[in-house]
Amino acid sequence: MNADDSVFLGDVVKTRKPHPCGGDTWTVIRTGADIKIRCLTCGRIVMMDRVTFLKRRKVTVSRLEQSEQEQTEGVG
Ligand SMILES: [Zn+2]
Repeated sequence: MNADDSVFLGDVVKTRKPHPCGGDTWTVIRTGADIKIRCLTCGRIVMMDRVTFLKRRKVTVSRLEQSEQEQTEGVG
């Protein structure tokens, strides 16, 4: 299993701890030194630094195609 610390715009991720609204699925809307994610359940936007984001991220659910690199993702 890869220690994947990559973050791409458009990633859909799940966090270890759910948002107070109950949702745990987010879309990455900004990358860089700070990461901005939007809760898919309530639409709130949260900004945090990259390190914090990587700690909170449980799994990347889906990723836009960024390159020719192929990724195998387990389902379910
Ligand atoms: Zn929310």
